[in-house]
Amino acid sequence: MQVDYIIVGLGLAGLAFSKELEKHNKSFIIFEDNSQNSSIVAGGMYNPVILKRFTPVWDAVNQLKIAIPFYESLEIQFNTKYHYSVPVYRIFKSIEEQNNWFIACDKPLLSDYMDSEIIHKKHVGVNADFGFGKLKNTGRIDTKLLLEDYRNYLLDKKLLLKESFEYKKMKIEDDTIEYKGINASKILYCEGFGLQQNPFFNYLPMQEAKGELLIIHAPDLIIDFLLKAAVFVLPLGNNYYKVGATFNWKDTTKVPTEEGKKELLTKLKGCITVPFKVVDHVAGIRPTVKDRRPLVGKHPKHSNMAILNGLGTRGVMIAPKAAKLLYKHLELGEALEKEISIARFS
Ligand SMILES: Cc1cc2nc3c(=O)[nH]c(=O)nc-3n(C[C@H](O)[C@H](O)[C@H](O)COP(=O)(O)OP(=O)(O)OC[C@H]3O[C@@H](n4cnc5c(N)ncnc54)[C@H](O)[C@@H]3O)c2cc1C
Repeated sequence: MQVDYIIVGLGLAGLAFSKELEKHNKSFIIFEDNSQNSSIVAGGMYNPVILKRFTPVWDAVNQLKIAIPFYESLEIQFNTKYHYSVPVYRIFKSIEEQNNWFIACDKPLLSDYMDSEIIHKKHVGVNADFGFGKLKNTGRIDTKLLLEDYRNYLLDKKLLLKESFEYKKMKIEDDTIEYKGINASKILYCEGFGLQQNPFFNYLPMQEAKGELLIIHAPDLIIDFLLKAAVFVLPLGNNYYKVGATFNWKDTTKVPTEEGKKELLTKLKGCITVPFKVVDHVAGIRPTVKDRRPLVGKHPKHSNMAILNGLGTRGVMIAPKAAKLLYKHLELGEALEKEISIARFS
């Protein structure tokens, strides 16, 4: 079998790149072994404002110009809704935070997203003595459903192999990669935190950032916005909410823990007062990089090997733009933005 690309890993990174390949009529085959699940469990939110400090998220406005049409085109392809516009309501803890919000509202890049009016409306079961600051033009992608649909589509087309890619069995020539009877012009690695097992790229400084989330059912909580306090509470419909997320920089397993659950419940009870039931508890590892920028580019020695990784806490926004830039780099020889290129670690 002869293909233009082998892709290892089908989370948001693998999906974004394979769509680029489809768009340009390039052939490919993808390996996916479910060893990681960050894209499946993710909250799926996109929000261009850092809610601790009220500062802009790096490159977010440019990323969103590419990301929103990207997800909307997938909605058309599969005739399914994945993209939900959801405002974010940030609970203020003090007058000082309200003042900081006003100051930030006037800043360039932020004014399109931050509403300068403080919301004092009460919502049953929500503790918000100092009111809320509202973010607009934010939303959520149902990444789990999207990946399920895309995986099924590729399975039907026999473009997805549900197996582990075994690095040792690959033969690298100057102009081809040979792997178990497949000859590819190039190979792209999109393994998320699975990068640690990749002997060609595991020199890159990835840090595990495990995150846990709860799904709760709260019949008396009626909000149609993402509530952001010590945790976020994201409406999923029918009074189900996603609550998250923890950050653990030491645990490299994707197993949900009692400590994670306890932390989320304690924080949740600080912001909502209505009864609820936990119906699910999930965990995954965010592929985070020391400098909080993605890992994109060709291997320093093997030019037919490349990586798209390091999406950290913001895969929804970053993946489509990074995939586009990588495609242009690999196929048209265009230089990568310095901030995302792995050349910064050579
Ligand atoms: C709790 C939590 C909440 C999050 N919330 C958000 C959010 O609200 N918004 C947002 O933008 N981001 C969020 N993120 C981050 C987001 O999930 C990541 O940035 C993104 O999903 C990473 O995508 P990826 O494709 O690089 O990695 P992954 O999703 O980890 O995908 C890598 C894939 O490669 C496969 N793989 C690895 N090694 C091999 C191998 N050898 N052979 C075959 N397959 C292999 C894995 O099984 C996996 O499917 C969250 C993450 C977590 C954990």
